[in-house]
Amino acid sequence: MLEELTEKFERVLKKVTGQGRLTEENISETLREIRRVLLDADVNYKVAKQFIEDVKVKALGKEVLTSITPGQLITKIIYDELTRLLGGNGAEIKLNPSGITTIMLIGLQGCGKTTFSAKLARLLKSKKRDVLLVAADVYRPAAVNQLKILGKQIDVPVFSIDDSKDPVKIAEDALEYARQNKLNTVIIDTAGRLHIDEEMMREAAAIKAKVNPTETLFVVDSMTGQDAVNSAKAFHEKVDFDGIVITKLDGDSRGGCVLSIRAVVDRPVKFVSAGEKLDSIEVFYPDRLASRILGKGDIVSLVEKAQQQVDEKEAEELQKKLMANKFDFDDFLKQIKMLKKMGSLKSIISMIPGVGSAIKNADIDDKQLVKVESIIQSMTKEERRNPKILNGSRRKRIARGSGNTIQDVNRLIKQFNEMQKMIKMINKQSGGRGMLNLKK
Ligand code: GDP
Repeated sequence: MLEELTEKFERVLKKVTGQGRLTEENISETLREIRRVLLDADVNYKVAKQFIEDVKVKALGKEVLTSITPGQLITKIIYDELTRLLGGNGAEIKLNPSGITTIMLIGLQGCGKTTFSAKLARLLKSKKRDVLLVAADVYRPAAVNQLKILGKQIDVPVFSIDDSKDPVKIAEDALEYARQNKLNTVIIDTAGRLHIDEEMMREAAAIKAKVNPTETLFVVDSMTGQDAVNSAKAFHEKVDFDGIVITKLDGDSRGGCVLSIRAVVDRPVKFVSAGEKLDSIEVFYPDRLASRILGKGDIVSLVEKAQQQVDEKEAEELQKKLMANKFDFDDFLKQIKMLKKMGSLKSIISMIPGVGSAIKNADIDDKQLVKVESIIQSMTKEERRNPKILNGSRRKRIARGSGNTIQDVNRLIKQFNEMQKMIKMINKQSGGRGMLNLKK
C-alpha cells in the first residue's frame, strides 16, 4: 500500500541528506518537490499548500544541531507534520463498558462496508465482546446473504428480517434481539448507493435517529481518491459520523484519500483495511502510518500483529528448541503457519524499517510458502524429526507425494540444513541465550 508515495518521499528526502547546512534555498527546493509528491498523490490542492506552509514555518526557525544532518531534521519535521495531517493522536472507537454498544456503518455501495462489518465483528469478538451483525442493507439483496456467509465464517450471529424493506425496524428489532440474548455489541450494515443520493442519506439519518449509535462510522474506498474525500464531506453534512474507515489501501499506491480526508472532514480515521480477507483490519495510528510513508517502517504494528497471531506458548517452546539445537521440520512447519496467519509476506516485509522500495516491490510469492508446506507435509514423522535420513529415494517419494520436483525438495533440505548450521552458530556465540533472546 502507498508504495508510490513512500518511494517518492524517500527519493526527495535522500537528496537533502548529506548537505551541510539547512538554508532557505535548499529547503525551498525540497518543499517544492514535496508539494509535487503530494499533488501527484492526488492530495487536495489546498491541503498540500497548507502542508508545505506548515513545514516551512517549522523548518526555518530550527537550528541544525551538530549531531544530526539537515536531512534528518527535515525528515523529522515532515514526519511530525504528516502525523498531524493524518490526525495527530488518533482516536479509537468508543465501546460501552456496560450496556449495548451500537456501531452503525454507512457509505457508498462497493466501498467494502459489508466486508468491513465482518472484519470489525471478528476484531471485537477477539476482544471478548459478544457481537451481533445486523443486515440492514435492504437495497442490495445479495448483501444480506453476503453478511450471513461472513457471519458464519467468524461464528458471529447475523440478524435479518426476510423480505423486510424497513431498515429502521430491522435495526430496532436487532437491538431488542441483542438485549434478549445478552449480546453487548451490535454492528449495523446499512445500505449504500452507487452515488451520493438523498434517499440513502435520509435512510441512514433515520436509522441513526432511532438507534442512537455509540459510534457511526463512514466507510470509504481509498482507491477512489478525491471522490472519496468529497463523498465523506457530503455524508458529514447530511448524516454526520464519529469516525472514518478507509478500505482497499492495498490497491492504493498513491494515498490521496488517506492524506487529505482528515484535513477536509473534521473527523478522525479510526480503522484502515488493506485486503479482502477478514483479518485485514488495523486500528489507525497516524504516527505509525507517517513512519511507514517516510520509509521508516512500522515496527510497532508488526509486533502487534505478531502478538495477535502467535501463540506465546508455542513461541517459547520454539525458543527452547532453538537453544537446544533441536529445531526440526515440524518446527519449521509451525513457523510457516504463524507467518501465514500474520498476512501476506509482502505486507509483513513492508512494515520492517529500512526495507528499501526495491525489496518491497519485488515479486514476493506467497505460493513459495505453500510449496514448502506441502513438501514438509509429505514427509513422515521420522523424516521431519531426523532430516538426516532423507536419502535419494525418500526425496523422490516426497517430491511425487507433494506434487513438486525433486529439485524443489533438494532446495528446501539444503536451506533447512543451512538454517540449522546458522542456529548452532548463533547459539554458540550468544552463550546459549538463544537467537530470539525472549527470556533471560
Ligand atoms: P459494500 O457494497 O460496501 O457492502 O461492499 P462489499 O463489502 O461488498 O465490498 C465490495 C468489494 O470490495 C468486495 O469484492 C470486497 O471483497 C472488496 N473489498 C472490501 N474491502 C477490501 C479491501 O480492503 N481490499 C480489497 N482489495 N478489496 C476489498
